Amino acid sequence: MTIATPKPAFTAERQHSVAAALRAVLPAASILSALEDTKPYECDGLAAYRQAPMIVALPASEQEVLAVLKVCRDMNVPIVPRGAGTGLSGGAMPIADGLVLSTARMNQIVRMDAYSRTAVVQPGVRNLAISEAAAQHALYYAPDPSSQIACTIGGNVAENSGGVHCLKYGLTVHNVLRVRVATLEGDVVELGSEALDAPGLDLLSVFIGSEGMLGIVTEVTVKLVPKPACARVIMASFDDVVTGGNAVAKVIAAGIIPAGLEMMDRTSSRMVEPFVKAGYDTDAAAILLCEADGTQEEVEEEIARMTAVLEAAGASAIQVSRSEAERLKFWSGRKNAFPAAGRISPDYYCMDGTIPRKNLAQVLIGIEQMEAKYGLRCANVFHAGDGNLHPLILFDANQPDELHRAEAFGAEILALCVEVGGTITGEHGVGIEKIDSMCVQFKPAELEAFFSVKRAFDPAMLLNPNKAIPTLNRCAEFGKMRVTAGVLPHAGLPRF
Ligand SMILES: Cc1cc2nc3c(=O)[nH]c(=O)nc-3n(C[C@H](O)[C@H](O)[C@H](O)COP(=O)(O)OP(=O)(O)OC[C@H]3O[C@@H](n4cnc5c(N)ncnc54)[C@H](O)[C@@H]3O)c2cc1C
Repeated sequence: MTIATPKPAFTAERQHSVAAALRAVLPAASILSALEDTKPYECDGLAAYRQAPMIVALPASEQEVLAVLKVCRDMNVPIVPRGAGTGLSGGAMPIADGLVLSTARMNQIVRMDAYSRTAVVQPGVRNLAISEAAAQHALYYAPDPSSQIACTIGGNVAENSGGVHCLKYGLTVHNVLRVRVATLEGDVVELGSEALDAPGLDLLSVFIGSEGMLGIVTEVTVKLVPKPACARVIMASFDDVVTGGNAVAKVIAAGIIPAGLEMMDRTSSRMVEPFVKAGYDTDAAAILLCEADGTQEEVEEEIARMTAVLEAAGASAIQVSRSEAERLKFWSGRKNAFPAAGRISPDYYCMDGTIPRKNLAQVLIGIEQMEAKYGLRCANVFHAGDGNLHPLILFDANQPDELHRAEAFGAEILALCVEVGGTITGEHGVGIEKIDSMCVQFKPAELEAFFSVKRAFDPAMLLNPNKAIPTLNRCAEFGKMRVTAGVLPHAGLPRF
């Protein structure tokens, strides 16, 4: 039997001519076009969706980034920027006839200034590498995605990434002072400044979280903060998720901002405990991890206050870390929860929505009901203090219809987040994963405003097209817009 090879979305001539143009400006080793070389780039952390690109370029400097962008602009090649490819919404998933621009070679820490507590880094520097380098000055970079061992600062900027410590120290947007950006039109612009404010419109905030659609980050200046002298974490058990969810709101309502406030349900603690042996209470319906940091006195005082609030909120057991090793152990389970899902399920689909904290219990009950409706299990492990949910829907892609049911399950969770006054993204971005849910969250006029911003940076619409902002056609297909007499409103809006 002969198996037909799928027809590529580009001709060999087209690929050769783009590769030749790139070879004129980049070393040959920085351009990949053979399928065995481009295949590793076919997906990001949202592995259910895959597409090998026509070509991959690995520029090593800002000048090389500009040269790649010029070739793409001249030859009308769509571009997908890529850091470490740990994104969970398909933002770095390639386009069939497009180019992946990887920042893997731009991985140098340019400058570390302990006096001004800043670091200037290239976009491909790993998040954790910044803190490791700053440790000699007793400083660190606060936003700490669980993927921090691998993900890059360029990817963090593009997704406005968060992490355990963001409740107290802020998200990427609060910890980045300045970015240098290469635009599709060949300019290098600096957004923000080394100071706390910059003159003019705050385009830095527009750019952070723009998912690779406005320009390529070529350099980032981040704030560093002093490493706290001491930190301890409470592990509180709850007999039901509703009491646990309400306890989160009560901690914040008591005027405490913990350094981290995370929740794991029983499915999550049971999937991770055999792997990390963190000492989790696997009988509890939910556990909360609440961290205090600061001086010894501040920590002791805050631990006592949090313990009192958690006990009054109905905690069935409380443990407090007794050493730094034990504190790290408690967190290691939380940080490894996503990969640990692989222990109990062939595939998992990680959702990401944010809700007002007071609605945590209501939404967790809603998710439990959806488990029965879709016939799929769901593990909940998330940034509870921020109201940022990460339901991990467990499924087996080899079973007919399970991926489809997982997608429908995920979409219904996001719709519930919107219904209770929340949003369809917390920190993982929209990418391709949540693009249809954008039709639920935003009105046509709002989507049009987003496109206007994109066109201002990228008139040719070549940077990460078809991601994050749905066209009105797409929303109409998704069933959220009414087509009158076969005509869509806003006909002037570009459809690509
Ligand atoms: C196990 C696991 C745990 C995770 N935990 C967290 C978490 O706690 N918090 C959190 O926020 N996220 C988390 N994530 C998601 C992911 O790690 C973050 O979104 C991260 O910021 C992606 O960085 P990256 O370098 O891998 O970017 P990529 O996945 O390569 O790209 C992400 C997006 O950024 C764009 N991009 C990348 N580099 C540039 C650049 N130089 N210029 C312009 N655009 C660019 C891409 O086009 C894409 O749209 C987790 C992922 C995994 C797999």
